[in-house]
Amino acid sequence: MKIDFANLQYQYQLYKTEIDEAISAVLNKSNYIMGEEVATLENSLQEFTKAKYAITCSNGTDALLLAMMALDIKPGDEIITTPFTFIATAETIAFLGATPVFVDIDEKTYNIDPSLIEEKITDKTKAIMPVSLYGQPSDMDAIASIADKHNLKVIIDGAQSFGSTFNGLTDSNLGDISTTSFFPAKPLGCFGDGGAVFTNNEELALKMKSLRVHGQSKRYHHKYIGMGGRLDTLQAAVLNVKIKHYPKDLSLRQEVASKYTKALENKTNLILPFVAPSATSAWAQYSVRVKNRDEVQAKLKEQEIPTAVHYPMPLHLQECFEYLGYKKGDFPVSEIVSGEIMSLPMNPYITNEEIDYISKNVISTDNIKLKKGKRCQMKIK
Ligand SMILES: *Cc1c(COP(=O)(O)O)cnc(C)c1O
Repeated sequence: MKIDFANLQYQYQLYKTEIDEAISAVLNKSNYIMGEEVATLENSLQEFTKAKYAITCSNGTDALLLAMMALDIKPGDEIITTPFTFIATAETIAFLGATPVFVDIDEKTYNIDPSLIEEKITDKTKAIMPVSLYGQPSDMDAIASIADKHNLKVIIDGAQSFGSTFNGLTDSNLGDISTTSFFPAKPLGCFGDGGAVFTNNEELALKMKSLRVHGQSKRYHHKYIGMGGRLDTLQAAVLNVKIKHYPKDLSLRQEVASKYTKALENKTNLILPFVAPSATSAWAQYSVRVKNRDEVQAKLKEQEIPTAVHYPMPLHLQECFEYLGYKKGDFPVSEIVSGEIMSLPMNPYITNEEIDYISKNVISTDNIKLKKGKRCQMKIK
């Protein structure tokens, strides 16, 4: 049985008629830049997330830049974030000349550990940037109360978590600004690059709208130094179709995750995902921890079961961040988890047979002889 990791082809076939129509409508109008489809999508995003303002943009990386530029993040400022994330989170902080200040993760959710944030706050700290990793929001109550106490802004990197919730509010309706990505393999993906920023603050919304189009106030008049950060009309047209089906796709993802958990829960060689009671996940990934990951991955590959590692090296150990002066051992939980984490195929369309097949093959790796020194240190049960 050959398994597809994200199964984007199947999804296209499923909505093909509608998507082809939406694309050819744009081609017929040739309204490629800021066509009406963009405004339609922004309205749907507001409706879905309940955030007051949704502003689409070129991708999830530029969404983070727009958010920080709107909050006047400048060289020398410090932003507290997690080292266990995709590079874009900290890269954009550094790109603006600010300093990413890392805080280790919680050993169950793999999101930033709020109890370690306060000791990293200095008079240069401007914001906290939690990442909703694998689709699950961080502990936003704890983070909001630290931010309030120290007068800091909160920017959520929600690239993986569109549609997730914390205490009943969507991830896009939390923090001062929340971002997302429509990269094809994200829970809500377009057919290329895309992203959005969300806020309930009108002033920030207007500023981000302007920053997205070169900081213009009106045509050829520029109030801010901005960027070329628009979403293509074609991508908006694709998303207008996919967002209609997204509530169903999201609940299918949640179902797939529950089925995985049920199929794998008795496996002593695995640590399964944990979702906090106050949160729901968009299940961008279903990631398990396994002691002898290389061998397990190789064995699954033989059975045509693709896996991925999100992420094999925490950001404080990346070459590009050498100048920050971190070393191995600084963030032990992030380091252990990045050595053991492995994502299984995840998409709304995985069948029961496929889940059985994948689970059976992960299970049979119980018998693989563990290499000395490769066992995980932590046990969570
Ligand atoms: C995907 C991702 C991004 C970047 O999104 P792009 O649309 O690819 O630019 C940023 N942060 C996280 C956590 C991501 O997973």
